[in-house]
Amino acid sequence: MTVPLPTDTTRWRCTLCGNLTRFDVTRSSKVVEYVHLDLAGEPKVEEREVLSETIESVRCRWCNAVDKVELVDRPGAGS
Ligand SMILES: [Zn+2]
Repeated sequence: MTVPLPTDTTRWRCTLCGNLTRFDVTRSSKVVEYVHLDLAGEPKVEEREVLSETIESVRCRWCNAVDKVELVDRPGAGS
């Protein structure tokens, strides 16, 4: 259920197929948006502040495994 979060030196890797680059991330977030409407009433979000954010699940685009990710070092990251 809990997904490890990547850091400056780590990245996700699918433990089933080894995919490093493609994931569908389901994220719930609480945001404050500055909505600016033009005279015709068309809204446009000009600023977005994220108050909190939670990653709920990560699905591998290659093999569809859900939450089967581990953290591995990024290339060049000191071990
Ligand atoms: Zn995979």
